[in-house]
Amino acid sequence: MIKMTVIGSSSMDLVVTALKRPNKGETILGDSFKTVPGGKGANQAVAAARLGAEVYMVGCVGGDTFGEEILNNFTSNGVITTYVEPVTHLETGTAHITLAEGDNSIIVVKGANDYVTPAYIDKALDVIVKSDIVLIQQEIPEETIEYTAKICFENSVPLLLNPAPARPISKTVIDMAAYITPNEWEASVLFENKDIHTALKEYPNKLLITEGKNGVRYNDGDNEVLVPAFPVEAVDTTGAGDTFNAAFAVAIAEGKTIKDSILFANRAASLSVTKFGAQGGMPTRKEVEENL
Ligand code: ADP
Repeated sequence: MIKMTVIGSSSMDLVVTALKRPNKGETILGDSFKTVPGGKGANQAVAAARLGAEVYMVGCVGGDTFGEEILNNFTSNGVITTYVEPVTHLETGTAHITLAEGDNSIIVVKGANDYVTPAYIDKALDVIVKSDIVLIQQEIPEETIEYTAKICFENSVPLLLNPAPARPISKTVIDMAAYITPNEWEASVLFENKDIHTALKEYPNKLLITEGKNGVRYNDGDNEVLVPAFPVEAVDTTGAGDTFNAAFAVAIAEGKTIKDSILFANRAASLSVTKFGAQGGMPTRKEVEENL
């Protein structure tokens, strides 16, 4: 069993469906409401645990009932919560999602996710340096990502940086990471004016660009390769990238080649889009292997 640390956000998604959005100053009746655990860090930790990794989550929730629900959700999915701290003076991170008129609008309140600072990471140093792989995303402070990249690099622990949501990253951080996994939009922000094919060539076997239902593009050192996604009937693509990242990290840490790890992760991610919700569709190891 491989040991993985996921450093990142945990939040509660508060999802309202309504026929329309209220105008300024207007109150309307909605149709339904549900709460769903989310946050890129939490999603990736749950996906990796379902795929059979020993997963340590490093993150923060608020000292409120959403925080308790998130902790329970980790535990019921087998994610180890020793380093998930309830921060009593901050609220749990939330995403306020309105689904109306065939589209969504979202307000994110970062809350306790802002407490995942370099000093907080220090509390989990022991487990980080003993990990087979570390996963991090960008819903936590920027300095934490830089700090983690340095720790991982200095201790020869491979770091997978999923640069989502999109924001530019310093070349030093890119150089210290073992794998960078933007989707197409994130890649365009990351490399600004640079042509994507040039960027792929510059970072062979490191930069993996996920292209939704097309699959994943990378450069193997000789050629640019597109590993096609598995065709499925997509129901909800929320969390596809999170499943991909977790599954790729599990496979590469187990010693699979990059190409085989992408195939495994494409399979896991394609299964995840066939069910509703980010975590709802994340497959077990058995489900992925039966479908490979
Ligand atoms: P994100 O969710 O971060 O925007 P993508 O949309 O690129 O990321 O999806 C990540 C991966 O999930 C893809 O590389 C692919 O393997 C899989 N995937 C996403 N959408 C589909 C789809 N409609 N059919 C099959 N696989 C998909």
